[in-house]
Amino acid sequence: MNEVRVLPEIVANKIAAGEVVERPASVVKELIENAIDAGATMITVQVYDDGQYISVTDNGRGMSREDARLSIHRHTTSKIYDPQDLYNIKTLGFRGEALASIASVSQMSLITRKKKDMAGVRLDLRGGELTNMRSAPHPPGTTVQVQHLFFNTPARYKFLKSPRVEMQHVKRAIILQALVHPDISFCYKGKGPVILDLSATGNPLERIRDVFGNKTWKELLSIEWLEKNFSITGFVSRPEYSRKDKKHQFLFVNSRPVVDNTLFYAVRLAYQDLIESHRHPFAVIYVHIHPELIDVNVHPNKYEIRFKEERCIFNALREAVQNRLLELQGPAKIHIPSRTEDSSFSSLPVNGKPTEKTPLFPGPYSSSVKKGDSHFMSSLSSRKDDDSFVIAGQLFFTYVLVLKEEEVLIIDQHALHEKILYYKLKTQQNASSFRSQLLVPEVFEIESGMKKVFENKLVPRLKEIGYDVEFFGGNSYIIKSYPTVLKDVDHKTLVQDYLDDMMSGKTGESTGTVERYQEKLLILSSCKKAVKKGAKLKEYELYELIREYFKAPDKYQTCPHGRPVAMKLDRQEIDKYFHRDY
Ligand code: ADP
Ligand code: MG
Repeated sequence: MNEVRVLPEIVANKIAAGEVVERPASVVKELIENAIDAGATMITVQVYDDGQYISVTDNGRGMSREDARLSIHRHTTSKIYDPQDLYNIKTLGFRGEALASIASVSQMSLITRKKKDMAGVRLDLRGGELTNMRSAPHPPGTTVQVQHLFFNTPARYKFLKSPRVEMQHVKRAIILQALVHPDISFCYKGKGPVILDLSATGNPLERIRDVFGNKTWKELLSIEWLEKNFSITGFVSRPEYSRKDKKHQFLFVNSRPVVDNTLFYAVRLAYQDLIESHRHPFAVIYVHIHPELIDVNVHPNKYEIRFKEERCIFNALREAVQNRLLELQGPAKIHIPSRTEDSSFSSLPVNGKPTEKTPLFPGPYSSSVKKGDSHFMSSLSSRKDDDSFVIAGQLFFTYVLVLKEEEVLIIDQHALHEKILYYKLKTQQNASSFRSQLLVPEVFEIESGMKKVFENKLVPRLKEIGYDVEFFGGNSYIIKSYPTVLKDVDHKTLVQDYLDDMMSGKTGESTGTVERYQEKLLILSSCKKAVKKGAKLKEYELYELIREYFKAPDKYQTCPHGRPVAMKLDRQEIDKYFHRDY
């Protein structure tokens, strides 16, 4: 007997499934793609039991009995035929692998009917093996049900993340398709209520509004760029409306959701420092390009593609966004915070009570930095007799240059101020036990379909960290009161970030506690209020800051995020550098 054998199809399918089917969301993605390729105008997705039950129903062209029987085998497709077709792919699928792969690692049923046929056909499979095939009623179109994913591949099952994270991926997979096919109605439900109900619209912007709510929609700017071989259209957020992670960035190339960090970077570059370095814009970008200029055959899940002219697209995208942001800077209503502006810390609630003149940093900070404006102080009038150090100046409006005995210290002004504020806030024990009413309640929106989860799960948790939130009609809620310690922060953004975190499981029961989030809030609050890099400080402000540092240098080794606060150069190191014997 030969040692080298052709793998049985079932084994080959299981191996292929390893690449195509990573998690419940991959099943949802593949089934929706098939529905779209079948010309559906209405797609209903139902997922529950943490992704252990998935069903996708479409009203597309359906399959004949014979086609249905063939479709569950590997490399069976109606979408390409000869090698040349590979260079001009217009459908989402073409490998003929999805149904076979999914079937091989689950219990799958396929019920389908062509309009002209009297009855539909139903195929039941278990681990890829056909167990039953019979006539079954079905309206024209197709339903694929997938249950017990990875029941026969326990190793893969183990790799699944928490149910919450998996369900987030499922929702994102649906949103991705919905964003790029506004002309198709999508309905997504769990066991009970509808989570997303998106009726068909010809307009991508309307679809964005239906998915993300009015609040996001109002903040969007449209972008457009036309070249001979490609075009870019889409929507990006105004700089003030940034998000804490990149989850709200969506890229489509020829109607295919794509992950391309280089292109996301092009968008981010356009904002430069219009938004803080750790925040990201909301962006939905559609690239249309001649199919010959891309290769989608890079990875079976097709999330990665290769461009033949990536550099051109990168530059075009960056410029398209940049130009749009520049347009805003004319007489527009937009407020782009100047790099030095931070009015909040004139009324810092240090020691619990906001004062006009606080011990640290009194006075407004409105000076602006111009290019070439160096800032080295000659006068030392703010220096007190008992100060054991001298401030030589501010370096790049970011670091404070301090001389102390035989040492030179370069201190990061933001990191130090942040840590000081952090300790002050922390001493006001139990952040959530004191609440303050907002004089004008702030309204925010949640994504449509999230109401139930929001009210049952998230509102109580917001309460635990000190926010009282009430229903305000539609998808809107109002923040009525906030934890007193968090004065002067943007509550809407903060609540939004907290919700994003909880939805992605970062602060879920398994990974975090309320205490941990309270800690996070303190860090966030101190970060927001702390003097920023690039801010020109007055001499007495520098002295107040550095005095605080020398009260307990050990406490201030790192900022609350763990970055170093001070760099020290002692006499010995300086001498050594200049090759001098000490
Ligand atoms: P691919 O999409 O790459 O062709 P699949 O395994 O996903 O491979 O599907 C195999 C074939 O089954 C498709 O080419 C298509 O002809 C048929 N098919 C799958 N899903 C549907 C559907 N929802 N409606 C109609 N035909 C479908
Ligand atoms: Mg397919």
